Amino acid sequence: MTSSLATPAAASDLVQPTRLWTPKHVVVTASAAEQPHTAEILRRCEAAGVDDVTMLSGDRITGLRGGSDREVYARAKSTLAVVVAPPSARKPQPIPPSADWRIDLAKGCPAHCQYCYLAGSLSGPPITRVYANLDEVLAPIATHVGRGTVTSGTAERAHEGTTFEMSCYTDPLGIERVTGSLAAAIARVGAGEFGDDASIRFTTKFDDVTELATLDHGGRTRVRFSVNAADVAHRFEGGTARMPARLAALRTLARAGYPVGVTIAPIMPIPGWREQYGQLLADLADAVADVPDLDLTAEIITHRFTPASKDVLLGWYPATKLEMDEDARSAKRSKFGGVKYVYPKDVMAEMRSWFTAELDRTVPSAQLLYWT
Ligand code: SF4
Repeated sequence: MTSSLATPAAASDLVQPTRLWTPKHVVVTASAAEQPHTAEILRRCEAAGVDDVTMLSGDRITGLRGGSDREVYARAKSTLAVVVAPPSARKPQPIPPSADWRIDLAKGCPAHCQYCYLAGSLSGPPITRVYANLDEVLAPIATHVGRGTVTSGTAERAHEGTTFEMSCYTDPLGIERVTGSLAAAIARVGAGEFGDDASIRFTTKFDDVTELATLDHGGRTRVRFSVNAADVAHRFEGGTARMPARLAALRTLARAGYPVGVTIAPIMPIPGWREQYGQLLADLADAVADVPDLDLTAEIITHRFTPASKDVLLGWYPATKLEMDEDARSAKRSKFGGVKYVYPKDVMAEMRSWFTAELDRTVPSAQLLYWT
Protein backbone atom coordinates (compact mmCIF):
# COMPACT_ATOMS: atom_id res chain seq x y z
CA MET A 1 0.00 0.00 0.00
CA THR A 2 1.35 3.43 -0.85
CA SER A 3 0.41 6.22 1.47
CA SER A 4 0.72 9.93 0.98
CA LEU A 5 2.34 11.79 3.81
CA ALA A 6 0.22 13.50 6.37
CA THR A 7 0.50 17.25 6.11
CA PRO A 8 -0.69 19.16 9.15
CA ALA A 9 -3.28 21.70 8.08
CA ALA A 10 -2.22 25.32 7.91
CA ALA A 11 -4.23 27.66 10.11
CA SER A 12 -5.61 29.34 6.99
CA ASP A 13 -7.10 26.01 5.88
CA LEU A 14 -9.16 25.52 9.01
CA VAL A 15 -12.75 26.67 8.96
CA GLN A 16 -15.09 26.88 11.88
CA PRO A 17 -17.51 23.95 12.05
CA THR A 18 -21.09 24.95 11.45
CA ARG A 19 -22.79 21.91 12.95
CA LEU A 20 -21.84 20.49 16.34
CA TRP A 21 -23.96 17.95 18.15
CA THR A 22 -24.24 18.20 21.91
CA PRO A 23 -26.31 15.43 23.49
CA LYS A 24 -28.80 16.56 26.12
CA HIS A 25 -28.40 13.31 28.06
CA VAL A 26 -25.50 10.91 28.38
CA VAL A 27 -25.93 7.50 30.00
CA VAL A 28 -23.03 5.19 30.79
CA THR A 29 -23.62 1.51 31.44
CA ALA A 30 -21.82 -0.18 34.32
CA SER A 31 -19.69 -2.28 31.95
CA ALA A 32 -18.78 0.74 29.85
CA ALA A 33 -17.72 2.69 32.95
CA GLU A 34 -14.81 0.23 33.39
CA GLN A 35 -13.41 0.87 29.89
CA PRO A 36 -10.46 3.29 29.53
CA HIS A 37 -11.99 5.05 26.49
CA THR A 38 -15.00 6.07 28.57
CA ALA A 39 -12.84 8.60 30.44
CA GLU A 40 -12.08 10.28 27.10
CA ILE A 41 -15.76 10.27 26.14
CA LEU A 42 -16.73 11.85 29.46
CA ARG A 43 -13.93 14.42 29.16
CA ARG A 44 -15.25 15.40 25.75
CA CYS A 45 -18.84 15.54 26.96
CA GLU A 46 -17.84 17.87 29.77
CA ALA A 47 -15.87 20.08 27.38
CA ALA A 48 -18.95 20.22 25.13
CA GLY A 49 -21.07 21.44 28.04
CA VAL A 50 -23.09 18.27 28.71
CA ASP A 51 -24.33 18.44 32.29
CA ASP A 52 -26.75 15.50 32.38
CA VAL A 53 -24.59 12.38 32.73
CA THR A 54 -26.05 9.27 34.36
CA MET A 55 -23.83 6.41 35.48
CA LEU A 56 -26.09 3.34 35.42
CA SER A 57 -25.80 0.57 37.98
CA GLY A 58 -26.34 -2.08 35.29
CA ASP A 59 -26.12 -2.47 31.54
CA ARG A 60 -29.77 -1.94 30.64
CA ILE A 61 -30.70 1.43 29.21
CA THR A 62 -34.14 2.42 30.39
CA GLY A 63 -36.26 5.55 30.28
CA LEU A 64 -36.28 5.93 26.51
CA ARG A 65 -39.90 5.02 26.00
CA GLY A 66 -42.93 6.89 27.30
CA GLY A 67 -44.93 9.77 25.88
CA SER A 68 -45.87 10.31 22.26
CA ASP A 69 -43.92 8.88 19.30
CA ARG A 70 -42.55 12.37 18.76
CA GLU A 71 -41.32 12.60 22.36
CA VAL A 72 -39.69 9.14 22.20
CA TYR A 73 -37.95 10.10 18.96
CA ALA A 74 -36.75 13.46 20.31
CA ARG A 75 -35.45 11.95 23.56
CA ALA A 76 -33.60 9.15 21.75
CA LYS A 77 -32.05 11.50 19.20
CA SER A 78 -30.69 13.73 21.95
CA THR A 79 -29.23 10.88 24.03
CA LEU A 80 -25.78 9.37 23.83
CA ALA A 81 -25.39 5.97 25.46
CA VAL A 82 -21.89 4.75 26.27
CA VAL A 83 -22.01 0.96 26.04
CA VAL A 84 -19.77 -2.05 25.47
CA ALA A 85 -20.03 -3.59 21.98
CA PRO A 86 -20.90 -7.27 22.34
CA PRO A 87 -18.88 -9.84 20.36
CA SER A 88 -21.65 -10.08 17.75
CA ALA A 89 -21.24 -6.35 16.97
CA ARG A 90 -17.47 -6.71 16.69
CA LYS A 91 -17.39 -9.39 14.05
CA PRO A 92 -16.31 -7.75 10.79
CA GLN A 93 -18.73 -8.27 7.90
CA PRO A 94 -17.90 -7.90 4.19
CA ILE A 95 -19.44 -4.67 2.96
CA PRO A 96 -19.34 -4.46 -0.85
CA PRO A 97 -19.04 -2.28 -2.82
CA SER A 98 -17.77 0.23 -0.26
CA ALA A 99 -15.05 -1.70 1.51
CA ASP A 100 -13.63 -5.07 2.40
CA TRP A 101 -14.92 -5.11 5.97
CA ARG A 102 -17.22 -3.18 8.25
CA ILE A 103 -16.10 -2.00 11.68
CA ASP A 104 -18.56 -0.08 13.86
CA LEU A 105 -17.45 2.60 16.31
CA ALA A 106 -21.05 3.35 17.24
CA LYS A 107 -24.61 2.56 16.30
CA GLY A 108 -27.09 5.37 15.69
CA CYS A 109 -26.82 8.97 14.56
CA PRO A 110 -28.13 12.26 15.95
CA ALA A 111 -29.06 13.78 12.58
CA HIS A 112 -32.56 13.75 11.12
CA CYS A 113 -32.38 12.65 7.50
CA GLN A 114 -35.83 11.69 6.29
CA TYR A 115 -34.41 8.91 4.09
CA CYS A 116 -31.99 7.66 6.75
CA TYR A 117 -30.11 4.51 5.75
CA LEU A 118 -30.28 3.24 9.30
CA ALA A 119 -34.08 3.09 9.36
CA GLY A 120 -34.23 -0.48 8.12
CA SER A 121 -31.45 -1.81 10.29
CA LEU A 122 -31.96 -0.28 13.74
CA SER A 123 -34.72 -1.33 16.04
CA GLY A 124 -36.33 0.65 18.84
CA PRO A 125 -35.93 4.36 19.63
CA PRO A 126 -33.12 5.92 17.52
CA ILE A 127 -30.60 6.48 20.31
CA THR A 128 -26.87 6.76 19.55
CA ARG A 129 -24.75 4.09 21.23
CA VAL A 130 -21.01 4.65 21.21
CA TYR A 131 -18.77 1.69 21.93
CA ALA A 132 -16.46 2.17 24.90
CA ASN A 133 -14.37 -0.98 24.33
CA LEU A 134 -12.47 0.69 21.54
CA ASP A 135 -9.47 -1.66 21.67
CA GLU A 136 -11.75 -4.64 21.08
CA VAL A 137 -13.68 -2.81 18.36
CA LEU A 138 -10.50 -2.02 16.44
CA ALA A 139 -8.79 -5.37 17.06
CA PRO A 140 -10.29 -7.09 13.96
CA ILE A 141 -8.34 -4.68 11.76
CA ALA A 142 -5.22 -6.59 12.81
CA THR A 143 -6.80 -9.99 12.25
CA HIS A 144 -8.45 -9.13 8.91
CA VAL A 145 -5.77 -7.07 7.22
CA GLY A 146 -4.65 -8.96 4.13
CA ARG A 147 -8.02 -10.71 3.92
CA GLY A 148 -9.62 -8.44 1.36
CA THR A 149 -13.05 -9.31 0.05
CA VAL A 150 -13.83 -6.48 -2.34
CA THR A 151 -11.64 -3.47 -2.81
CA SER A 152 -8.20 -4.96 -2.54
CA GLY A 153 -9.02 -7.23 -5.46
CA THR A 154 -9.62 -4.35 -7.86
CA ALA A 155 -6.90 -2.68 -9.86
CA GLU A 156 -8.15 0.83 -8.99
CA ARG A 157 -8.18 0.24 -5.27
CA ALA A 158 -5.44 -2.29 -4.62
CA HIS A 159 -3.17 0.51 -3.34
CA GLU A 160 -5.57 1.07 -0.43
CA GLY A 161 -4.77 -2.34 1.02
CA THR A 162 -7.52 -3.95 3.04
CA THR A 163 -10.25 -1.40 3.65
CA PHE A 164 -12.44 -1.03 6.74
CA GLU A 165 -15.67 1.00 6.53
CA MET A 166 -16.64 2.83 9.72
CA SER A 167 -19.89 4.56 8.78
CA CYS A 168 -22.32 1.72 8.19
CA TYR A 169 -24.27 2.29 11.39
CA THR A 170 -23.43 5.86 12.33
CA ASP A 171 -22.02 9.17 11.15
CA PRO A 172 -18.74 8.92 13.08
CA LEU A 173 -17.77 12.57 12.54
CA GLY A 174 -21.19 13.74 13.72
CA ILE A 175 -20.54 12.29 17.18
CA GLU A 176 -16.77 12.73 17.26
CA ARG A 177 -16.83 15.88 19.38
CA VAL A 178 -18.20 13.81 22.29
CA THR A 179 -16.59 10.43 21.55
CA GLY A 180 -13.03 10.80 20.22
CA SER A 181 -13.27 7.31 18.71
CA LEU A 182 -12.55 8.45 15.18
CA ALA A 183 -9.44 10.45 16.08
CA ALA A 184 -8.11 7.44 18.00
CA ALA A 185 -8.78 5.10 15.06
CA ILE A 186 -7.23 7.47 12.50
CA ALA A 187 -4.11 8.04 14.61
CA ARG A 188 -3.61 4.34 15.39
CA VAL A 189 -4.13 3.18 11.81
CA GLY A 190 -2.01 6.11 10.61
CA ALA A 191 0.84 5.10 12.91
CA GLY A 192 0.85 1.65 11.30
CA GLU A 193 -0.32 -0.17 14.43
CA PHE A 194 -2.30 -2.59 12.26
CA GLY A 195 0.30 -2.94 9.54
CA ASP A 196 1.02 -1.04 6.35
CA ASP A 197 -1.86 -2.54 4.42
CA ALA A 198 -4.83 -1.46 6.51
CA SER A 199 -6.86 1.60 5.65
CA ILE A 200 -10.09 2.94 7.08
CA ARG A 201 -12.83 5.01 5.52
CA PHE A 202 -16.01 6.73 6.54
CA THR A 203 -18.73 8.96 5.14
CA THR A 204 -20.13 12.03 6.88
CA LYS A 205 -22.60 14.87 6.56
CA PHE A 206 -20.84 16.93 9.22
CA ASP A 207 -18.03 19.46 8.97
CA ASP A 208 -16.13 19.56 12.26
CA VAL A 209 -12.72 18.57 10.89
CA THR A 210 -10.50 20.88 12.94
CA GLU A 211 -9.07 18.05 15.04
CA LEU A 212 -8.87 15.56 12.18
CA ALA A 213 -6.86 18.02 10.10
CA THR A 214 -4.11 18.04 12.73
CA LEU A 215 -3.78 14.25 13.03
CA ASP A 216 -0.94 12.17 11.67
CA HIS A 217 -3.18 10.06 9.43
CA GLY A 218 -0.43 8.54 7.29
CA GLY A 219 -2.70 8.66 4.25
CA ARG A 220 -4.50 5.61 5.62
CA THR A 221 -7.93 7.17 6.14
CA ARG A 222 -10.23 8.16 3.30
CA VAL A 223 -12.84 10.70 4.36
CA ARG A 224 -15.87 10.91 2.08
CA PHE A 225 -18.46 13.62 2.37
CA SER A 226 -22.02 12.70 1.62
CA VAL A 227 -23.32 15.34 -0.78
CA ASN A 228 -26.54 15.98 -2.63
CA ALA A 229 -28.53 18.42 -4.72
CA ALA A 230 -29.43 21.61 -2.84
CA ASP A 231 -33.16 20.80 -2.74
CA VAL A 232 -32.63 17.27 -1.42
CA ALA A 233 -30.24 18.41 1.29
CA HIS A 234 -32.43 21.33 2.28
CA ARG A 235 -35.66 19.33 2.49
CA PHE A 236 -34.52 15.99 3.82
CA GLU A 237 -31.22 16.30 5.73
CA GLY A 238 -32.11 17.89 9.07
CA GLY A 239 -29.42 18.37 11.70
CA THR A 240 -26.50 18.10 9.27
CA ALA A 241 -23.95 20.61 8.00
CA ARG A 242 -25.03 22.56 4.90
CA MET A 243 -23.52 21.65 1.57
CA PRO A 244 -20.97 24.52 1.28
CA ALA A 245 -19.71 23.65 4.77
CA ARG A 246 -19.24 19.99 3.81
CA LEU A 247 -17.30 20.95 0.70
CA ALA A 248 -15.15 23.38 2.72
CA ALA A 249 -14.42 20.55 5.19
CA LEU A 250 -13.49 18.23 2.30
CA ARG A 251 -11.12 20.87 1.02
CA THR A 252 -9.52 21.28 4.46
CA LEU A 253 -8.85 17.56 4.80
CA ALA A 254 -7.64 17.19 1.22
CA ARG A 255 -5.14 19.98 1.86
CA ALA A 256 -4.09 18.17 5.03
CA GLY A 257 -3.11 15.22 2.82
CA TYR A 258 -6.07 12.93 3.41
CA PRO A 259 -7.42 10.83 0.58
CA VAL A 260 -10.95 12.21 0.25
CA GLY A 261 -14.13 11.43 -1.59
CA VAL A 262 -17.73 12.27 -2.20
CA THR A 263 -20.62 9.92 -1.69
CA ILE A 264 -23.29 11.42 -3.92
CA ALA A 265 -26.32 9.92 -2.25
CA PRO A 266 -29.12 9.30 -2.31
CA ILE A 267 -29.61 10.61 -5.83
CA MET A 268 -33.20 11.52 -6.66
CA PRO A 269 -34.59 12.58 -10.05
CA ILE A 270 -36.21 15.71 -8.60
CA PRO A 271 -37.42 18.47 -10.93
CA GLY A 272 -34.35 20.16 -12.44
CA TRP A 273 -32.05 17.37 -11.22
CA ARG A 274 -29.50 17.88 -13.98
CA GLU A 275 -29.06 21.56 -13.12
CA GLN A 276 -28.94 20.92 -9.37
CA TYR A 277 -26.49 18.03 -9.49
CA GLY A 278 -24.53 19.91 -12.15
CA GLN A 279 -24.15 22.83 -9.72
CA LEU A 280 -23.07 20.44 -6.98
CA LEU A 281 -20.33 19.00 -9.19
CA ALA A 282 -19.22 22.49 -10.20
CA ASP A 283 -18.99 23.47 -6.51
CA LEU A 284 -16.96 20.33 -5.82
CA ALA A 285 -14.60 21.18 -8.68
CA ASP A 286 -14.11 24.67 -7.20
CA ALA A 287 -13.45 23.25 -3.74
CA VAL A 288 -10.61 21.00 -4.90
CA ALA A 289 -9.25 23.10 -7.77
CA ASP A 290 -5.93 24.02 -6.15
CA VAL A 291 -5.41 21.04 -3.83
CA PRO A 292 -1.94 19.59 -4.39
CA ASP A 293 -1.65 15.78 -4.84
CA LEU A 294 -5.41 15.40 -4.73
CA ASP A 295 -6.72 11.84 -4.21
CA LEU A 296 -10.47 12.13 -4.80
CA THR A 297 -13.01 9.34 -5.30
CA ALA A 298 -16.74 9.36 -6.02
CA GLU A 299 -19.39 6.84 -5.07
CA ILE A 300 -22.88 7.32 -6.48
CA ILE A 301 -25.93 5.74 -4.88
CA THR A 302 -29.51 6.13 -6.04
CA HIS A 303 -32.38 6.36 -3.59
CA ARG A 304 -34.06 3.12 -2.57
CA PHE A 305 -36.26 1.91 0.24
CA THR A 306 -37.58 -1.32 1.68
CA PRO A 307 -41.00 -2.00 3.23
CA ALA A 308 -39.31 -2.02 6.66
CA SER A 309 -37.39 1.22 6.17
CA LYS A 310 -40.47 2.98 4.77
CA ASP A 311 -42.46 1.92 7.78
CA VAL A 312 -39.85 3.20 10.24
CA LEU A 313 -39.31 6.46 8.34
CA LEU A 314 -43.02 7.22 8.20
CA GLY A 315 -43.11 6.66 11.97
CA TRP A 316 -40.23 9.08 12.51
CA TYR A 317 -41.28 11.63 9.87
CA PRO A 318 -45.04 11.26 9.32
CA ALA A 319 -45.30 14.48 7.28
CA THR A 320 -42.35 13.74 5.00
CA LYS A 321 -42.58 14.66 1.33
CA LEU A 322 -40.03 12.02 0.45
CA GLU A 323 -41.30 9.95 -2.46
CA MET A 324 -41.60 6.29 -1.37
CA ASP A 325 -44.23 5.11 -3.84
CA GLU A 326 -43.89 1.42 -4.70
CA ASP A 327 -45.91 1.95 -7.90
CA ALA A 328 -43.36 4.45 -9.20
CA ARG A 329 -40.46 2.07 -8.54
CA SER A 330 -39.05 -1.27 -9.64
CA ALA A 331 -38.95 -4.06 -7.08
CA LYS A 332 -35.55 -5.70 -6.76
CA ARG A 333 -35.43 -9.01 -4.91
CA SER A 334 -32.40 -10.20 -3.00
CA LYS A 335 -31.29 -13.81 -2.90
CA PHE A 336 -32.62 -13.96 0.66
CA GLY A 337 -36.13 -13.02 -0.45
CA GLY A 338 -36.06 -9.38 0.69
CA VAL A 339 -37.29 -6.62 -1.60
CA LYS A 340 -36.07 -3.10 -2.18
CA TYR A 341 -37.65 -0.45 -4.37
CA VAL A 342 -35.34 1.31 -6.81
CA TYR A 343 -36.00 3.67 -9.70
CA PRO A 344 -37.25 2.07 -12.94
CA LYS A 345 -34.65 0.86 -15.42
CA ASP A 346 -35.00 3.75 -17.86
CA VAL A 347 -34.65 6.37 -15.12
CA MET A 348 -31.62 4.56 -13.72
CA ALA A 349 -29.99 4.34 -17.15
CA GLU A 350 -30.59 8.02 -17.85
CA MET A 351 -29.20 9.16 -14.51
CA ARG A 352 -26.23 6.84 -14.73
CA SER A 353 -25.18 8.03 -18.13
CA TRP A 354 -25.62 11.69 -17.17
CA PHE A 355 -23.70 11.36 -13.87
CA THR A 356 -20.75 9.44 -15.30
CA ALA A 357 -20.36 11.88 -18.21
CA GLU A 358 -20.86 14.99 -16.07
CA LEU A 359 -18.48 13.84 -13.34
CA ASP A 360 -15.85 13.13 -15.96
CA ARG A 361 -16.37 16.53 -17.57
CA THR A 362 -16.67 18.68 -14.43
CA VAL A 363 -14.38 16.92 -11.96
CA PRO A 364 -11.98 14.84 -14.08
CA SER A 365 -9.73 14.32 -11.07
CA ALA A 366 -12.43 12.23 -9.37
CA GLN A 367 -12.21 8.48 -9.73
CA LEU A 368 -15.67 6.90 -9.84
CA LEU A 369 -15.60 3.79 -7.65
CA TYR A 370 -19.12 2.55 -8.26
CA TRP A 371 -22.68 3.43 -9.17
CA THR A 372 -25.58 1.64 -7.59
FE1 SF4 B 1 -29.03 8.70 8.85
FE2 SF4 B 1 -26.66 9.38 7.77
FE3 SF4 B 1 -28.56 11.21 8.08
FE4 SF4 B 1 -27.33 10.20 10.22
S1 SF4 B 1 -26.40 11.47 8.61
S2 SF4 B 1 -29.54 10.57 10.00
S3 SF4 B 1 -26.98 8.08 9.56
S4 SF4 B 1 -28.65 9.39 6.73
